[in-house]
Amino acid sequence: MLAEIKGLNEECGVFAIWGHEKAAEMAYYGLHALQHRGQEGAGIVSSDGAQLHVHKGTGLINEVFEAGKIRNLKGQAAIGHVRYATLGGGGYENVQPLVFRSQTSSLALAHNGNLVNAFALKTQLEAQGSILQTTSDTEVVAHLVKRSGHLELEEAIKQALGMVKGAYAFTFLTENKMFVALDPRGLRPLSIGMLGDAYVIASETCAFDLIGATYEREVQPGELLIIDENGMRSTAFSSPMKRTLCSMEYVYFSRPDSNVNGLNVHASRKTMGKQLATEAMVEADVVTGVPDSSISAAIGFSEASGIPYELGLIKNRYVGRTFIQPSQELREQGVKMKLSPVRGIVEGKRVVMVDDSIVRGTTSRRIVRLLKEAGATEVHVRIASPPIVNPCYYGIDTSTKSELIAANFSVEEMRQQIGADSLAFLSAEGLEKSIVTDPNSITQGVCQACFTGNYPTEIYPDTIIPAYKD
Ligand code: 5GP
Ligand code: SF4
Ligand code: MG
Repeated sequence: MLAEIKGLNEECGVFAIWGHEKAAEMAYYGLHALQHRGQEGAGIVSSDGAQLHVHKGTGLINEVFEAGKIRNLKGQAAIGHVRYATLGGGGYENVQPLVFRSQTSSLALAHNGNLVNAFALKTQLEAQGSILQTTSDTEVVAHLVKRSGHLELEEAIKQALGMVKGAYAFTFLTENKMFVALDPRGLRPLSIGMLGDAYVIASETCAFDLIGATYEREVQPGELLIIDENGMRSTAFSSPMKRTLCSMEYVYFSRPDSNVNGLNVHASRKTMGKQLATEAMVEADVVTGVPDSSISAAIGFSEASGIPYELGLIKNRYVGRTFIQPSQELREQGVKMKLSPVRGIVEGKRVVMVDDSIVRGTTSRRIVRLLKEAGATEVHVRIASPPIVNPCYYGIDTSTKSELIAANFSVEEMRQQIGADSLAFLSAEGLEKSIVTDPNSITQGVCQACFTGNYPTEIYPDTIIPAYKD
């Protein structure tokens, strides 16, 4: 049973386009811009008005879509997905978009986020005779929609969304309609753009920039968009609630060139770095960031502290992200392969090393060691987010509590373990301030549950566990 539950956790990127003669090709480019959100699987489903065409597979977009594969995906509408999954949830059957065919029509869907009550719904569906093909939470929604098949599809989707809880940015595609939905709290980012007359939807705005689309607006929490030959229509499937957008999107997950809910990610990270400098100043000679996700925060720290920013660490571009490596041993090797200290910069210096987050502590420990081996006299670690002490149930893989170093050790104990001369984290208030400019606005507001334990939805810790890896 555990193996099955394992598969319920993932973090991903979605892209959709309606009304473009090269829809699949645009989706292919768009997904490239979202590749950082998931490297384990990718897929595109297109519609030519009469039929859905599917191509998907495990691996990077380049690997999945070898030459010519896009040409087979005919039609003026497409939805695409990049998938990050843990070991238990990998495998072809879980690669999205998922496609369900019936005699009358087909339904494809792609999902970013995690449904916290998927396990309960799954049990219920199975008891009522549904046969689920995948171990992913996403399939549950398709079955809920199908179960209401006597209704108009729009109504059926609304009913299904009314039953699921948690975080979701959904795109649905049939032969002649597209639907887009964001959960009532807006936990995951989702933006609307235009490419000529074509509607474009993406997890991050960097996908718009890559295909030359213009940004229009955010999909609102609890909003269902219906896109078809008549254009785009908006309806609400849930009453308005204050947004709790994942703060980790700003801290680590999104690309610095994306604007998430209207705020540029690089700019927000710089503010986090500045805030961190005011909260945890230290005397030092240089500030360095861990490429790539911490550079912005390091620049901010440098600006606010007056300590010069230097390129103390270089990244080897051709190695994947730390989290992709499945075992602790491989993860440690991963960091070694990925980063090199610049001896000429750090030798004989007191170094402030800014990183975006500490999960297991592996990265920080390795980097402190690398910097010291390269001659740094002191290494002061500054983390541009609060200690992660709780698991995420909303689709970001921050591991189980037992693996979270901050859930098990004090800051001083962590400092010793990573071998730093000092260690400090950004406060939760400081993080929130860096993202939310108007605390009274219901369209602003962030989730910080992995830091504070204040989960914005019900959670079901007994039936759904965050991804487990060893
Ligand atoms: P650790 O090595 O402490 O387990 O992980 C923290 C490092 O991993 C940070 O440098 C961060 O940039 C990187 N990282 C990779 N994937 C993730 C993720 O999904 N969440 C977070 N918070 N950090 C991640
Ligand atoms: Fe994001 Fe943390 Fe909330 Fe998960 S718990 S949605 S990672 S802020
Ligand atoms: Mg990092």
